[in-house]
Amino acid sequence: MSVAISVRNLFRYFGPLKAVDGISFDIPHGSVCGFVGANGAGKTTTMRMLATLDYPTMGSAEICGINVVNHPDKVRSLIGWMPDHFGNYEHMTVLEYLDFYARALGYTGDERRSRIEEVMAFADLVPLASRLSNKLSKGMTQRLCLGRALLHDPQVLIMDEPAAGLDPRARVELKHLIRILAEEGKTIFISSHILSELGEMCDSLLFINAGRIVHHGDAESLKRGSDTSGGVYYDVQVDGNPESVSDWAVLNTDVEIMETRKRGARIRIPSAESARAAEILSRMVREGVRVIEFHREQRNLEDAFIDILGKIEEGEPGLTPPPQPTTPAGSPPNDPVPPAEPPPPVV
Ligand code: ATP
Repeated sequence: MSVAISVRNLFRYFGPLKAVDGISFDIPHGSVCGFVGANGAGKTTTMRMLATLDYPTMGSAEICGINVVNHPDKVRSLIGWMPDHFGNYEHMTVLEYLDFYARALGYTGDERRSRIEEVMAFADLVPLASRLSNKLSKGMTQRLCLGRALLHDPQVLIMDEPAAGLDPRARVELKHLIRILAEEGKTIFISSHILSELGEMCDSLLFINAGRIVHHGDAESLKRGSDTSGGVYYDVQVDGNPESVSDWAVLNTDVEIMETRKRGARIRIPSAESARAAEILSRMVREGVRVIEFHREQRNLEDAFIDILGKIEEGEPGLTPPPQPTTPAGSPPNDPVPPAEPPPPVV
C-alpha cells in the first residue's frame, strides 16, 4: 500500500524546548490513523508542520510524496486541515462562509456552487445555511469546519481534536462522517484524547510522549494486551484453591504469574499464538489444575496507553529509540523559525 503521510526524523524546537523530538512514521493511503498523547506531547506541533503552518527545525515530512517545506502550495492542495481552534468571521452566514472559502480556493461558477452544495449535504449544513457562522454551537461549528476542509476535495485530512467539546451524539455523527471519508479512500490523521472512540474508527494508533513516538500499531493488538515482547495475558479461574495456578506455574517456566486473584490468577504467556495458549491450557488441566475459565485479557486503550507510559518511565528498552542522524531540512523561503535554535542533537 502506498504512503500518504511520511515523516522522517522530524524535530521542532521552541528555544530549548523539544516539542517534537525526532519522530518518524508512515500512514498508508486510505487509512485512518489516531494521534494520541497527553497535553503538551507534541500533537498539534506535528500536525501544524504537516499542514505547512510551521517549519520543522530538522527532518522531513511528505504528503503523497510532496515535501511540506519545499512545496507547501502543492501540499495545501492535497490536505484538508481542521485546527483545534476554529477561526471565524463575524456577520457571515454559513453559506457565505463556504462561498468565501470556495472563491479563495479559486472555484468559479457552477463548479463553486456544486462544491458548496456537496460539502453542505455531506456535513449536514443545509439547515444552517443562513445561520451566522460565529453563532453556531460547538458541534455545528465543527461540521462547518469539516465542510470547509473538504471544499477542495483533499486526499488527506488532518484533524486536530475535532471531537473535543462535542456531546455524545455529535461525536457519533462525526465518527460516522470520518468513516465515510475513509471508505471514499481519503487518508485521515486525527488527534483526540478520547481513546475508546479513536480505537473504534482508526486503523492504527500513533502514541506520542514528550515529542517522541512511543507506539504505532493497531488498536486491536493493544486491546488484546500483548506487550512489547510479544507476551499476552490471560485470566485463569479455577474450581477450588486459587493458589493452584501459581503452584503449577512454579514448575512451568513459560507461564508467569502476574497477579493472584480471588478465583485464580492473571498469567502471562510468551506468545500470542493461540496454539501456544491451547497447549498451556491442556497441560494445566492434565496436571491437575481445575480450570473453569481461561480467557485472553481485553484491556481498554486508556490502560494500554498508561502501561506504555509506565514502561517508558521505568526505562524499558526499545520504546523510545534514539533519534537517527539527520540532515537539516534547510531554510525555506521566508523561514519564520527563529535563527537561535539549539544545535541538532548528536547521536
Ligand atoms: P494538547 O493535547 O494540550 O493540545 P499537544 O500534544 O497538541 O497538546 P503541542 O501543542 O504540540 O502539544 O505542544 C507541545 C509543546 O510545545 C508544549 O510544551 C507547548 O507548550 C510547546 N509549544 C507549542 N507551540 C509553541 C510555541 N509557538 N512556542 C513555544 N512553545 C510552544
